[in-house]
Amino acid sequence: MKMEGKSVFGGVAMGRLSIYKKNDQLVKRIKVTDTDAEIQRYNEATEKAKQQLAALYEKASKEVGESSAAIFEVHQMMLDDLDYQESVVNMIQTQNVNAEYAVAVTGDNFSEIFAAMDDEYMKARAADVKDISNRVISVLQGAEDAGFDSSEPVILVAEDLAPSETVQLDKSLLLSFVTRYGSTNSHTAILARTMNIPALIGVDYSEDIDGHFGIVDGFEGVLYVDPDEEIIEQYKKKQEEQEEKARLLQELKGQPTVTKDGREIKLYANIGGVGDVPSVLQNDAAGIGLFRSEFLYLESDTFPSEEDQFNAYRSVVQTMAGKKVIIRTLDIGADKQVDYFNLDKEDNPAMGYRAIRICLEQPDIFKTQLRALYRASYYGNIAIMFPMIISVEEVRRIKETVEEVKKELSDQGFAYGDVELGVMIETPAAVWITEELGKEVDFFSIGTNDLTQYTLAIDRQNPRLDSFYDAHHPAVLRAIQMTVENGHKGGAWVGICGELGADTSLTETFLRMGVDELSVSPSRILAVRAAVRDCDLKG
Ligand code: PEP
Ligand code: MG
Repeated sequence: MKMEGKSVFGGVAMGRLSIYKKNDQLVKRIKVTDTDAEIQRYNEATEKAKQQLAALYEKASKEVGESSAAIFEVHQMMLDDLDYQESVVNMIQTQNVNAEYAVAVTGDNFSEIFAAMDDEYMKARAADVKDISNRVISVLQGAEDAGFDSSEPVILVAEDLAPSETVQLDKSLLLSFVTRYGSTNSHTAILARTMNIPALIGVDYSEDIDGHFGIVDGFEGVLYVDPDEEIIEQYKKKQEEQEEKARLLQELKGQPTVTKDGREIKLYANIGGVGDVPSVLQNDAAGIGLFRSEFLYLESDTFPSEEDQFNAYRSVVQTMAGKKVIIRTLDIGADKQVDYFNLDKEDNPAMGYRAIRICLEQPDIFKTQLRALYRASYYGNIAIMFPMIISVEEVRRIKETVEEVKKELSDQGFAYGDVELGVMIETPAAVWITEELGKEVDFFSIGTNDLTQYTLAIDRQNPRLDSFYDAHHPAVLRAIQMTVENGHKGGAWVGICGELGADTSLTETFLRMGVDELSVSPSRILAVRAAVRDCDLKG
């Protein structure tokens, strides 16, 4: 069987197809007669949920440290809370309802009470109560944990994957992604590029392919289910050719990223977390041009502490051993939702309360991150950049906050290094004021993913619009040109960190515009280096 889709990253993958299970919990109110048996079910489910949390605590303390893992201990204690337990039991007894329903209603009630409290810490517990209630409901419903169950690498097939879901996947078991929805510029697509695995979107699959053998052709945008021997042989050959090409690119390791006529540019890598650093080194990037720090928040069940963030940033800069590491401050909101931020649902999230807007309104969150970044700067070469900027006023406020943080750190005896400050140019407003912004900061990094979305008025998440999405639209290219010219006028260097930076058909255009840096997925580093080395700007 052959299914057509759209490729978001090339390559060939072969293996078992595994359908991703979402944990959508439809809770029905059911009348029960034996309330004692229902209470017994509830008690047993609570015990099982506590065992799951204890296992998660062990796993998280090994992987992300004890203070991030502590939330799983808090959740275990919440399950033991007598008020919560009494409320569930009372509802089962007095209303003769099923345990799932009693837990869901209690979870909602408690969550509302917490959300209405003045104390910020207690407010944040609202999401936790929901979390523990959902966990107990899952156990009661006999649902498996969301995700996929496999001990061997698989081709993951899903309706769609939110960033909060992809962060929880065991990456070592993924050969490829195939989704029904999602768009070329979604963060799932970006993750596939970072991981260097083929990925398809827009595949209209049926549930019965689960467990069958599949081949993903990320060049042609095709998924084969149970292909015959001839096709399997054909793809084995393709895979070998691909490996050969990759081997040839390996020869560019250790070589400078320089044009034939001698112009050298900075070629950096984009990462989502500490786990991506090995591939940055393997692909020989000269630095990290975009560390999407929000993934630290997405991976956690509560706000990552200053200490946890400091450890993550320090580990990255130390491993990069003096090479530049540009860390972007929190870019939460839009498609990157985190429960414990308790953000309101918005009609237009891409143009909503996100990124720097949240940081400027919630200085506690912002300052915690800045403190961790400045403390880590002592151990290497950190630069910080700020997302979704639209005004000079915002940049001045950011700089004031940075000064406050530096002063506090100095007063407390913390050392920090020299840190370059930059802004992302990813809104048309920022492009139009690049002349003023260039005087305020050390560098610009052009986020072409959002810049294209806002310039062309095309939601990057909406697959329906993929055919209108012209990555080479002259409006976008002119915006880049203008940003480079104005940045240089103001004394700022200019890079591109959006996906367009890896488009080798534009490498020469970017170099002719005067772009100083390109930051791309680790898997694209050597291909972009090859393209730069092919350019002759004098020719
Ligand atoms: C961009 O918008 O181009 C960018 C690099 O940031 P993100 O894709 O994380 O929004
Ligand atoms: Mg962006």
